[in-house]
Amino acid sequence: MKSESRQLKQTAPLCNKLAIVTGASRGIGRAVAIALAEAGSHVVVHYHEQRQLAMETVKACEASGVQAIAVQADVGVEADVKRLFIAATQIGNPTILVNNAGIAHYGLLMDLSLVEWEKLLQTNLTSTFLCCREAIPYLKRASGGRIINLASIHGLRGAAMEAAYSASKAGVIALTESLAAEVGSLGITVNAVAPGVIDTDMMQGFSAQERLQMQEETPVGRLGTPADVANVITFLALEASSFITGQVISPNGGRMP
Ligand code: NAP
Repeated sequence: MKSESRQLKQTAPLCNKLAIVTGASRGIGRAVAIALAEAGSHVVVHYHEQRQLAMETVKACEASGVQAIAVQADVGVEADVKRLFIAATQIGNPTILVNNAGIAHYGLLMDLSLVEWEKLLQTNLTSTFLCCREAIPYLKRASGGRIINLASIHGLRGAAMEAAYSASKAGVIALTESLAAEVGSLGITVNAVAPGVIDTDMMQGFSAQERLQMQEETPVGRLGTPADVANVITFLALEASSFITGQVISPNGGRMP
């Protein structure tokens, strides 16, 4: 059984790569970490507060025969991001970065405090900037790599009650397009994935009736799963995806932004 999984790893499309996945303790990040591991990549499972859940993700990745470690960081804090990348070097040189960690806030803009606005921008947008900047020397050293940033359909079109969230994700898209233009010649691709409604903890604030309505508004007739997003991210991480950069791909079940 063990030799079977080792052989699988060596023929896997991301064999011997190392991916850093932020916010991989649960939700979309966990599904991404597991999918990349199944494709043969070693994984740094980043988490913020949920160490126990992060360790469960590590175990699930290791089941594919790859190495995985859990590293705590607040990705909105510069020193934490530096520490995250240094910790990653315990198991290799990272060449895939998935900026997934994020938070949501629901409420009218007129009720939004400056503290809430700044926390959201720091966690969703500043974090993406800090992790991208920190990643570039590592990816350059490897003569290329992949950066995949989590945006949202609300980054393509702003949504009522989600002004700060929408602004942060629109910022992620603009950052993605700008960085893609800067680092394409280094063999580094930078893309954004802008999911529709995905069934994770982030949706807990919605009532059963609101969730049913969102389902009905989605042409395929269901909410998305973390695996729906992980499939797109794994595709973008492949060597074979080297001609795709500066793009926004939206797994949304047909629900238009
Ligand atoms: P989730 O289940 O709520 O998980 C959020 C993740 O982010 C957790 O791993 C959490 O870590 C981490 N995190 C939160 N604050 C952090 C901080 N300050 N520093 C570092 N990590 C932090 O979210 P999700 O639904 O999987 O969403 C993942 C990404 O997809 C987000 O960027 C989100 O905006 C985007 N997205 C989601 C949807 C959706 O419908 N769910 C749609 C479009 C886009 P701990 O667990 O350790 O605290």
